[in-house]
Amino acid sequence: MYNKENIFYKILKSELPAKVIYENEIALSFYDINPACKVHALVITKGLYSNFDDFASNASPKMVKDFFETVSRVANILGLSQTGYRIISNIGPNSGQEVEHFHMHILGGEPLKKTLL
Ligand code: AMP
Repeated sequence: MYNKENIFYKILKSELPAKVIYENEIALSFYDINPACKVHALVITKGLYSNFDDFASNASPKMVKDFFETVSRVANILGLSQTGYRIISNIGPNSGQEVEHFHMHILGGEPLKKTLL
């Protein structure tokens, strides 16, 4: 169940500012306010999905494809495609998901620490 009381919903509605990187009909990308590495971007859906499971179960196959193409495009815009990058999506309490609106993290711009993976 999607709860509109979250920061990314407010960013989508332009009620909060964001440093936008890229936008299309289905997604919005902006810089993470608290970067975990040199380049840390987020890509959020414009559709209201609370996490990856919700998105994978309820979005159309075309939407899922277009969203992941958008993530790849943003990485390219940021100049990360050649040097490599990591994508992450946190789902639920054990992951530490803070914002309950589906989003992917894009991390790169420098060699990334190996944490769990
Ligand atoms: P997650 O823990 O996967 O839900 O990630 C949420 C991310 O959103 C964290 O990395 C936060 O630093 C980031 N964040 C929280 N508020 C904002 C904001 N107003 N603008 C940009 N990023 C934010």
